[in-house]
Amino acid sequence: MTPHAHNPAPAQDRARKLEALGRVPREVYDLLAASPMPLKAYELLWRLQEKRGRRAPPSTIYRAVSVLIDQGLVHKIESRNAFIVCSAPDKAHDPVFLVCERCKSALETDGSAAMDAVRERVKEAKFRPLHLNFVVSGTCRNCEESK
Ligand SMILES: [Zn+2]
Ligand SMILES: [Zn+2]
Repeated sequence: MTPHAHNPAPAQDRARKLEALGRVPREVYDLLAASPMPLKAYELLWRLQEKRGRRAPPSTIYRAVSVLIDQGLVHKIESRNAFIVCSAPDKAHDPVFLVCERCKSALETDGSAAMDAVRERVKEAKFRPLHLNFVVSGTCRNCEESK
């Protein structure tokens, strides 16, 4: 295999992981994957209830997202208290989120290089970080073009 050959394994890994997680995390993942916007827990709950046609306790969502986050399939955007599917679940990375203030869409980009530097400074400050989770707010390409 050449170093540049496309490797289809990550998508399969993701499908296999999701399969193993069970129905609710899979449903929650699908809801997040279908949304261009990050969703808050109560929005996920509404959508899940709508899909199923019956009520579900909020704990259903919290359990499902925590499993998805543990598996690296979903990120929580801490400052927005919202969830988004990871765009690169096959590799270790520090996500930086580009959040559009107009259409509320969010894109994930890999901030690993910058985050390593931040982590060093955080360590120097003898600060114990809980979350390292950055948001760049602004205007997305679509909104910028339709101005
Ligand atoms: Zn990610
Ligand atoms: Zn936008």
